[in-house]
Amino acid sequence: MTEFELIRQYFQRECSDSQWLKLGIGDDAALIQPSPGCQLVICADTLVAGRHFPPGTAPADIGWKALAVNLSDLAAMGAKPRGFLLNLCLPEADERFLAQFAGGLFELADQYQLPLIGGDTTAGPLAISITALGELECGQILRRSAAQLGDILLQVGDLGGAAFALHQPDQASKSACQRLNRPRAFVDAGRYFARCAHAAIDVSDGFAADLNHLLTASGVAARIDLPQLGLHSDLNSLAAETALPLALHGGDDYALLVTLNEAAWTQAKANAPQSLLRDTREIGRITAGEGMILVDAQGRRKQLAPQGYRHF
Ligand code: ADP
Ligand code: MG
Repeated sequence: MTEFELIRQYFQRECSDSQWLKLGIGDDAALIQPSPGCQLVICADTLVAGRHFPPGTAPADIGWKALAVNLSDLAAMGAKPRGFLLNLCLPEADERFLAQFAGGLFELADQYQLPLIGGDTTAGPLAISITALGELECGQILRRSAAQLGDILLQVGDLGGAAFALHQPDQASKSACQRLNRPRAFVDAGRYFARCAHAAIDVSDGFAADLNHLLTASGVAARIDLPQLGLHSDLNSLAAETALPLALHGGDDYALLVTLNEAAWTQAKANAPQSLLRDTREIGRITAGEGMILVDAQGRRKQLAPQGYRHF
């Protein structure tokens, strides 16, 4: 199979949205007509075999996750996803792998009607890099650096399930394995909070590490109410010494952390869709100074170290 046959067979599909996508796969580059009044938001993320997913991972899960991690980045900016590019580095043109990989990839893409608008295909060690494109109405961006003193800190989604499934695959529930292999990106939550919140980040390298990025960028500190933290249900049956490191420092959660002022949170609680509020919880406050303080059920305070997943 040539590179071109491979692209045609597995990745080139009809696209109905000719307003936005003027030219897709097939030329030297794609052509986009951004929606009026919108800015383009772009991010990229790479998954390398053996590093970002274990060798036995199902090809469909690899396809899903490669796109999901990018949609999570767009969600953390408040953007509406619109399309994506796919850079594939493959050891061989394995048709079984390609069919399943494309199946998982498009299963998620179709949930948001996202066209694949281009990419690159090369031979080499298995790695998948996706560049995702989204749109935001001008002025609505959720930046890491925009948290303000007195803001409420929200968590959307739960923590620790993926790390538990990675480290204890035999004990993990189906739901925890889904967190690891088929993460959910909180696209609707990101879009909702773009209208009323100040700052956001998605948790990819661990809660403590990513919250610390937001705090440092904003020049503020945070108090986290430990009993309010949303842990994956598998962690409830574990001792706190085992559960907390997974929830606070494990990676691959793709939860969102959002900061907004009290009035905005009160309004959101009254107006936001129930499905969004079910996934969202208030876990603390933005405070003056630097660093993160954990407060337990007895009111004891402890400094939280910003350690998380290390890429190098
Ligand atoms: P060029 O040689 O000009 O860089 P290619 O031959 O690599 O172009 O690609 C031809 C077309 O196929 C381009 O439109 C490119 O975006 C698209 N393409 C290549 N690889 C992929 C892929 N893995 N997924 C989607 N589109 C792809
Ligand atoms: Mg060319």
